[in-house]
Amino acid sequence: MATKTGVPPAASASPAVTLSKQEVLRYSRHLIMPEVGMEGQLKLKQAKVLCIGTGGLGAPLGLYLAAAGVGRIGLVDFDIVDFTNLQRQVLFGTSDVGHPKIEAAADRLRNLNPEIQIDTFETHLTSENALDILKDYDVIADGTDNFPTRYLVNDASVLLGKPNVYGSIFRFEGQITVFGYPGGPCYRCLYPEPPPPGLVPSCAEGGVLGVLPGIVGTIQAAETLKLIIGKGEPLIGRLLLFDALGMRFRELKLRKNPECPVCGEHPTLTKLIDYAEFCGIRGEEAPMPETTVPEVTPKELKARLDRGDDVYILDVREPHEYQICHIQGHLIPLGELPRRVNELDSSREIVAHCRSGKRSAEAVEFLRKAGFRKIWNLKGGILAWSDEVDPSVPKY
Ligand SMILES: [Zn+2]
Repeated sequence: MATKTGVPPAASASPAVTLSKQEVLRYSRHLIMPEVGMEGQLKLKQAKVLCIGTGGLGAPLGLYLAAAGVGRIGLVDFDIVDFTNLQRQVLFGTSDVGHPKIEAAADRLRNLNPEIQIDTFETHLTSENALDILKDYDVIADGTDNFPTRYLVNDASVLLGKPNVYGSIFRFEGQITVFGYPGGPCYRCLYPEPPPPGLVPSCAEGGVLGVLPGIVGTIQAAETLKLIIGKGEPLIGRLLLFDALGMRFRELKLRKNPECPVCGEHPTLTKLIDYAEFCGIRGEEAPMPETTVPEVTPKELKARLDRGDDVYILDVREPHEYQICHIQGHLIPLGELPRRVNELDSSREIVAHCRSGKRSAEAVEFLRKAGFRKIWNLKGGILAWSDEVDPSVPKY
């Protein structure tokens, strides 16, 4: 069993493939190590790796795999480079903002190593296209950031019998393992059920230390290279946990679940399913549920303040968000509202706001239940205020 010996059987290099003089020079620091050598470098040259996502994890993955000479690298992404990506997605530069990630990523990797082939898939990975896209690659590297795609990548990898080098990040913490290796566990063995929608915040909601995906994605790249050359002890059946704040690595043993619906002894999941539905997430086209709390738009609020109306602004964000920007609101974080409700005067008109309007809608609902009648939610939060009223307020 692969997990016992630690070294999975790697494909042997075809004798017909050789390195040019140029390639020998480029990869000389690999070639002089007996663990890689000419044999390992030729395996890398013939290897095909699919990187799903070219964001925070995909950046170091793509860069190091290309630099190491992985002969064919597939990239899957549909996104556009955004200004907020640059804090961690080191494949992109400021001049790439507004351009498709896949083009900027492919240009960067081709410039890094013109000897290799870069395949681009500018698309969402879906149940319809996943098997077709994954089937041509030897190793799958999952650099996605959402549960439906993780289950999709897992199931497609298991169905195709391909290892899935997995990484995930949140705030200061990362996880890395190799799923789907024959004999080893898969993502569903670890997480049979997705978390309830909205329970686990995304990096966009919870933040992430810029260097964290660099560390986690680099470990994924190292695991991918090891799988290809067949050396060392891969992270099969081992979940590596990294905590950047404490600067500690821990390791959990993962076991294959014999009852696993996709990789178990009697699999019930034999084809790809609807992953948005499985994770309880609405289709993207579905409209947001109608909010039930009374709202005021930023323009209406501005007009009322300009008229000199007595409107009390309640800011329910966190203190560190207030430091980024504020509109002179009285700060009571949503979590403290129940015990600080006595700071509010229910006879006054109150407009509650947060960053985007979601938390403040909860605050308005809570206060209405507590008997407040003259209370409104600022539609779209301080982001909309910046867009519609005062562009000098920074967005974050
Ligand atoms: Zn499984």
